[in-house]
Amino acid sequence: MEACRLLILDDDETIGMTIEAIAISAGAVARLTSEPDEFFGAVADWQPTHICTDLNMPGMDGLAVLTELARRDCKAQVIISSGVGMRVLDAAARKGAEQGLSMCGVLAKPFMPDALRQLLQRQAPVLRRPMPRPDPAYLPDRAALAMALDQRELFVLFQPKVHCASGHLAGLEALVRWQHPVHGLIAPDRFIELAEVTCLIDELTLQVLDQSLAWFVPWRETSRDRQTVTLSINLSARSFGNPTLVSQLHARCQAAGMPPDRLIFELTETAAMDDPVLALELLTRLRMQGFQLAIDDFGTGYSSMVQLVRQPFSEVKVDLTFVKTAATSEESRIVIRTIVGLGHSLGMRVTAEGVEDSIALAYLRDIGCDEAQGYLIGKPMAPAALDTWLAAYKPAG
Ligand code: C2E
Ligand code: CA
Ligand code: CA
Repeated sequence: MEACRLLILDDDETIGMTIEAIAISAGAVARLTSEPDEFFGAVADWQPTHICTDLNMPGMDGLAVLTELARRDCKAQVIISSGVGMRVLDAAARKGAEQGLSMCGVLAKPFMPDALRQLLQRQAPVLRRPMPRPDPAYLPDRAALAMALDQRELFVLFQPKVHCASGHLAGLEALVRWQHPVHGLIAPDRFIELAEVTCLIDELTLQVLDQSLAWFVPWRETSRDRQTVTLSINLSARSFGNPTLVSQLHARCQAAGMPPDRLIFELTETAAMDDPVLALELLTRLRMQGFQLAIDDFGTGYSSMVQLVRQPFSEVKVDLTFVKTAATSEESRIVIRTIVGLGHSLGMRVTAEGVEDSIALAYLRDIGCDEAQGYLIGKPMAPAALDTWLAAYKPAG
């Protein structure tokens, strides 16, 4: 039992302390927390051999905890506890196993001390299944995506964007992924349009926003340098039809303690163009709430100029097709330079996306482009990898 390190996540302090006491009496070392952030910090730093998580907690539900543990490739033996009944517990345990976790067992509350002791002594993974490989042939449908949203299978990666001149971190863009329990990792290109046409996009946007804020707000508060770092969230124009969207987005930010002026909503120009009157109203309301707005993939649509002038954008993102080819194509360089000039004359910040080589970055600096984003700087990353990236990142001189 000496090697057993049990990490407990439970919002009920009395129950948590009971579990802790039983574990210690059985010879384990135990740590208890009611805070998801502290919990995931301990998962990374303390490397527990066993985890005991409650299924019903305010702020984060147990299924989301399991998904996040699977995404972090957690190797601990996982015990789930709850007072909701055995069938729900069993279903949750199956879900954890399908995601690749070592599910050690379930603990129905109220439980006998012996039940927990036995679980802690059970070392062999009972239900472990390997993480599924990505399946490129899989075409998700509405039911699958609705289930994924319900089961919290979507998660967010963050891609850094830096100031071209100094190389310092300027912001992070949230990019969604779907970890399907059977078909593996699915890229957003394969389900965003589906979400849009099946009216699931608002739920998706809100989940992406909530997950991003849950990590970003405490992260930005840990240092003064991070106060100016922005968070970018992609917004679909399909959501313009939802009259409560602006107030929902605002309420989420307020609840999370996120200053609206650090949050940028990115829209593609084609999306913003579909119904310019509706777009203008929604975008103006977002701006009035203090949010920033970026026009995404700029340069690919045909009435780009019109949109840029008419709508209240604060940032323009040059489409990556131009930036990727900047080193080799004079035409691409002309397009980029023109967009930078246009954006600046309209008082906007210009970001170049898809910076893959140092020639492109040097060119962007030369022409006074404000920010750069791309694989040369950093790929979309999970929060833990981002901290490592940040510690190691040296702006190219
Ligand atoms: P986007 O908003 O234009 O995001 C940039 C895409 O380019 C991302 O792909 C990113 O991984 C990729 N990228 C970044 N740097 C480079 C680079 O240097 N080279 C190359 N070749 N690619 C680079 P990703 O994450 O697959 O996202 C694809 C698109 O899916 C996004 O394009 C966005 O339109 C959409 N999307 C992603 N997350 C969300 C979301 O939460 N909501 C909505 N509505 N759409 C999303
Ligand atoms: Ca974007
Ligand atoms: Ca883009």
